[in-house]
Amino acid sequence: MISRRKFFANAGAIALCGPERFSALQRGGPYAPQRAGPYALILGIAQDGGMPQVGCYAERCERARARERPRYAASMALVYPNQDRYYLVDATPDITRQLDLLDEPGFRARADQRRPFDGIFLTHAHIGHYSGLAVLGREGLGMAPTPTYCTPQMADFLTNNGPWGLMVSEGRLDLRPVVPGEWNRIDDQLQARALLVPHRPEYSDTVAWIFRGPTQTILYLPDIDSWERWELDVEDVVASVDVALLDATFYSGDEMPGRNIEDIPHPLVPHSMDRLQGRVDAGDRVVFTHLNNTNPALFEDSREAAEIRRRGFEIATEGQRIPL
Ligand SMILES: [Zn+2]
Ligand SMILES: [Zn+2]
Repeated sequence: MISRRKFFANAGAIALCGPERFSALQRGGPYAPQRAGPYALILGIAQDGGMPQVGCYAERCERARARERPRYAASMALVYPNQDRYYLVDATPDITRQLDLLDEPGFRARADQRRPFDGIFLTHAHIGHYSGLAVLGREGLGMAPTPTYCTPQMADFLTNNGPWGLMVSEGRLDLRPVVPGEWNRIDDQLQARALLVPHRPEYSDTVAWIFRGPTQTILYLPDIDSWERWELDVEDVVASVDVALLDATFYSGDEMPGRNIEDIPHPLVPHSMDRLQGRVDAGDRVVFTHLNNTNPALFEDSREAAEIRRRGFEIATEGQRIPL
């Protein structure tokens, strides 16, 4: 795992090859054409099982069923409208419908040619984060070869297990294993860096991704067992980015009666807020995502959602755009 010293050494190095390399057009100016800049598009904010969740007929899931738009599993897209470039960050079981949120005209034309993405970034091998790849395969989209960025362990998992192995051997998933901790130049306007995080390693290790676009740097960290078990200080990592999207699976420890929350550990939202209040008070943006169907903050009118907002934190919403 990357050491704290190396984390900041690399952070310093990237400052030399950051926004100044990007085109003057993107920086804008009095005579720059008014064109939409790149953005991260939130495609889903629910934990892996989605919302409503299968077999759940509690009031919260019934409320979600009655909504015009259900919550989708946590995922996002990186959209470069002017360059007609699109990246997917995690592929969820809800992928078919949640890609309808990507309403750039150019996207549909590209998807129609079986080449919707310039790249796919994966965090880990739990169902909410990669199983949506299935409908991109032969029985669904029949996706053209697409660079797929993940850890070497995740790449091994995809290569050696069906049905993903077929997508690899057919060339649809063009696996690009990355070295955790190192920056990767994805194109002239996107750099990406994976950070290993402690999280139940049944099938693969888990990473958070940091994406650096022309104007902002975004941390995407949907799953972690515990801030305290991480080799990095979450406060430092949040301070090093412009916007941090963080694991908010559970709000309280008694959300799962009959199930031992120790078996599915996540930092509780109030604890995360306690650790990061100083960063938020200093002006950093912390946006919660990956909320379990039991987390009352999924509903904007809940006391818990109000408390999150009162403390200056945010809750991601489907369709939300964050400049990149
Ligand atoms: Zn998850
Ligand atoms: Zn997970």
